[in-house]
Amino acid sequence: MNRKYRKTVIAGNWKMNKLPSELKAFAAELKPFVHKPKWCDVGICVPGVMIPAALRAFKDNKVGVGAQDLSAAASGAYTGEVSGAQLADVGTKYVIVGHSERRQYHGETDEMINAKTKAALANKLIPIACVGETLEQREMGITLELITLQVKTILSGIPAEQMRKVIIAYEPVWAIGTGKTATAEQAGEVCTHIRAVIRKLYGARVARSVTIQYGGSMNGKNAMELLAQPDIDGGLVGGASLKPEEFAQIIHAANQD
Ligand code: PEP
Repeated sequence: MNRKYRKTVIAGNWKMNKLPSELKAFAAELKPFVHKPKWCDVGICVPGVMIPAALRAFKDNKVGVGAQDLSAAASGAYTGEVSGAQLADVGTKYVIVGHSERRQYHGETDEMINAKTKAALANKLIPIACVGETLEQREMGITLELITLQVKTILSGIPAEQMRKVIIAYEPVWAIGTGKTATAEQAGEVCTHIRAVIRKLYGARVARSVTIQYGGSMNGKNAMELLAQPDIDGGLVGGASLKPEEFAQIIHAANQD
């Protein structure tokens, strides 16, 4: 983390878990831990149908509500899709784009993720754009090359003043939901590389202002070590964000003086 130049952001990704009716009890359990997070912003990305209930449940907590996807299109005949304008209109703050599960099950490409990132920014949503390698790609030794390509494609055509609002999440696919965490050094190396790619594209001032999260089996035990890496500015947290106490431990790790 480097709080002098950029925000630390801990964002939960609930995926397709929990019910709207469970939100109130979850928010009440989390509240004592998030009523005044000193050093970090906290968000929870829920299924679209749960956003209004999440906004109500978290209204007294300092928790920003996020979506897990949005349409690249502005409006029109796209049955089943939700637009950035619709998300913004109800009060959504964050939106995850390009999660590896969207890439895997819905065939999303870096080009589509680029269009979605632009759609988010056009509606003043904070995109959390995910990049990451598979185990096979890591074993082939092409992680950094692949990440470079993903970052460059996802950010293509995004001007510098908008880039400051983009969060990049480094999520090695092999660490998501598997209980296998990248070591702090592995995660730190890739996040430092991502910042170097951004520096080449946008210059040093923009690069140092961008929040880069790590995601992949982050939990209450490993969060502190991961967040101690200079280029890891928070976490995108799946499984551990479903349990208030565990999620609170991660927030606590990000809030250390
Ligand atoms: C995720 O879904 O973005 C994620 C990182 O999941 P988990 O923390 O469960 O590995």
